[in-house]
Amino acid sequence: MPVTDLRGVKVTKKTRLPISLLFSAISAMRIMSSFSRISRDAYISRFTHEGLREMLYALTSEKTGVLPLFFTMGTLARGDGGFPEGGSLPFVGRIVDTFQSLGGELLLNTRGDRVIVENDKAVGVMVAGKNVPADAVIITADTMSIDHLFDTPPKAPWLEEMHAVTEPTMATFLSLGITADLKKYQKGLVFKLQQPISLAEQRYEYLSVNNYASDPVYSPEGKTAITITLGGDTYDFWKKAKEENRYMDEKQKLAGVVIEALSELIPEIKGHVEVCDVATPLTYERYCSNWKGSWMTEMTPSMKMKTYPATINGLSGVYFAGQRMMPPGGLPVALMTGRMAVQYLCRDTGTLFVSEE
Ligand SMILES: Cc1cc2nc3c(=O)[nH]c(=O)nc-3n(C[C@H](O)[C@H](O)[C@H](O)COP(=O)(O)OP(=O)(O)OC[C@H]3O[C@@H](n4cnc5c(N)ncnc54)[C@H](O)[C@@H]3O)c2cc1C
Repeated sequence: MPVTDLRGVKVTKKTRLPISLLFSAISAMRIMSSFSRISRDAYISRFTHEGLREMLYALTSEKTGVLPLFFTMGTLARGDGGFPEGGSLPFVGRIVDTFQSLGGELLLNTRGDRVIVENDKAVGVMVAGKNVPADAVIITADTMSIDHLFDTPPKAPWLEEMHAVTEPTMATFLSLGITADLKKYQKGLVFKLQQPISLAEQRYEYLSVNNYASDPVYSPEGKTAITITLGGDTYDFWKKAKEENRYMDEKQKLAGVVIEALSELIPEIKGHVEVCDVATPLTYERYCSNWKGSWMTEMTPSMKMKTYPATINGLSGVYFAGQRMMPPGGLPVALMTGRMAVQYLCRDTGTLFVSEE
């Protein structure tokens, strides 16, 4: 994704977009607009190979159509997509190192309770009952659920629009540790199930499996880590299960059904599941305070590609960043909107933004 500078901010090195990018963007827009009008069934029926059709069904959804798949494939084809070597933790560690080497101070396991606003300007943050003074506050928590961070919930037309149009992407995520070496299987597997799996109102006819057998960080010798993502909105189901003290039972039940289905497809799994973890939308909500435990925005055909402004008129010193600021979100968006929020801050305070060389 092209990274651009905010208009009017002073930077040490301006990002310049090649003119060729403009032309390819225009042509991409045209392609996107035509594919957003084609239904998923109509697109997939163009393929004659049954295996390809099944795979495309497994990788797309009725609601979002086929467009998101193009983004994924484009990113992978350009070499921009993949898994960070060694997993997410060292990846985060490198960001933390940079932040700290620049003088940043990191408080872990600490919730910000409230932004302190005086005379329409942010002057600090309440953290665990303590007032931490601040010249400015950048809120990187999910912009869809920020009201609790203010005495008076902020109001802005763009926030209203965000609330009106955002459709959450969510999933139930299963991670299994298998006492078997599954290197002989592909890294990415898609199975059509003989018996579809049901979870709340969702029905899964396919299982998509990530097989980390050949990654020594995830899978020690003789063992294999695999993950399965069951997409779709199951928030209310899990919430009710929690309220009725059925949460752990439902997790176990789901894991049992998935493991049994997988064991038929990969016999080495049967009786060899050493570790099993089920993360639900409630898990993401608990860890990240995300709206409905959602970690991206659904890329529906009618979704507008836009960037919301990082500020609110009449409330100075508060900036917003994170997945919701540029639908459909995701990790690159989280980083880019963070950079953008800092540029807003620099512009407002006449500070020079030090661009990466
Ligand atoms: C299973 C799965 C697969 C994914 N796959 C991809 C992928 O392939 N590619 C991709 O680009 N994206 C992917 N994503 C999405 C991506 O991880 C998210 O979009 C991205 O992490 C969002 O970043 P963020 O910084 O906006 O929010 P988050 O990562 O949710 O971070 C928000 C942070 O704010 C903290 N926080 C919230 N409230 C407070 C508070 N009051 N005080 C202090 N801290 C607070 C939270 O604890 C959290 O650490 C995936 C997500 C999941 C779950």
